[in-house]
Amino acid sequence: MHKREDPQTLLNTCLKNLCLATIRECYQQVGQTAQQESMSYQEYLLELVELECAARHTKRIERLLRESKLPLEKNLDTFDLQRLPRKIVQKVKTLLEGSFLDRKENVLAFGNPGSGKTHLLCALGQELVRSQSRKVYFTSCGILVQELLLAKKQLQLPRILKKFAKFEVIIIDDLGYVQQDKDEMEVLFTLLADRYERGSIMLTSNLPFSHWESIFRDPMITAAAIDRLVHHSVILELNLPSYRMAQAKERGKLQDEKTKEEEEGDENKKQKK
Ligand code: ADP
Ligand code: MG
Repeated sequence: MHKREDPQTLLNTCLKNLCLATIRECYQQVGQTAQQESMSYQEYLLELVELECAARHTKRIERLLRESKLPLEKNLDTFDLQRLPRKIVQKVKTLLEGSFLDRKENVLAFGNPGSGKTHLLCALGQELVRSQSRKVYFTSCGILVQELLLAKKQLQLPRILKKFAKFEVIIIDDLGYVQQDKDEMEVLFTLLADRYERGSIMLTSNLPFSHWESIFRDPMITAAAIDRLVHHSVILELNLPSYRMAQAKERGKLQDEKTKEEEEGDENKKQKK
């Protein structure tokens, strides 16, 4: 007769086959606790299944964050929301609910350099991944355009558009920062048109719409791009003083105060002498 293996080995094999790695790791220890605490069979099973679910959730978020290419240091904890006007804070809070992604709406952040556009959109993106497991992709406009152009040359544009279609939102940083040539802008327009009403775009730009013709070159393409982006969109106008500048000034002020204190200290010492 075929000899049956011991239950523990069998259980381990089954859990492995079912890809229940966390239950496999924990069931013995949780079993001991269950005995000590006189847990019911159901409670014991629930405890194990919950551990498995939690571990899978953590792994999923880690994977989504890795795939998002988001700079993780730009998050909500490191962002000072108090710097923003109250109206924008309110909009940010609504965006954090995430429903704009279901409606395929866009978020367009404008403002002078250093006003916090990139940091804010990255922080929003990261929160949407962490709290709602949303599929986010971050890229700078320059890199995106190069990637699209290369794909076009290799007749792979449909493939790359399909790759982007997997994401619920694409964050395009710094639209129009560098002057692009017509080919480059055409592929960018292709992407915008492809996502229109099918997936969200969040973008940052130092240039107001009135200057976008210098990005897209062609007035018709410019109008068509703006039309598609704005149709369903939330606009965040960050017309704030540069954070970098404010910090540099703050440092300068502290330095001045320190120097003044030191000078006063020296003066006191001289007088005592
Ligand atoms: P922009 O994209 O508008 O040029 P960034 O988002 O790159 O500006 O911000 C410039 C620098 O200032 C970054 O290092 C960013 O982390 C920081 N910064 C900007 N706004 C804030 C803020 N409200 N709180 C914390 N750091 C900020
Ligand atoms: Mg920026």
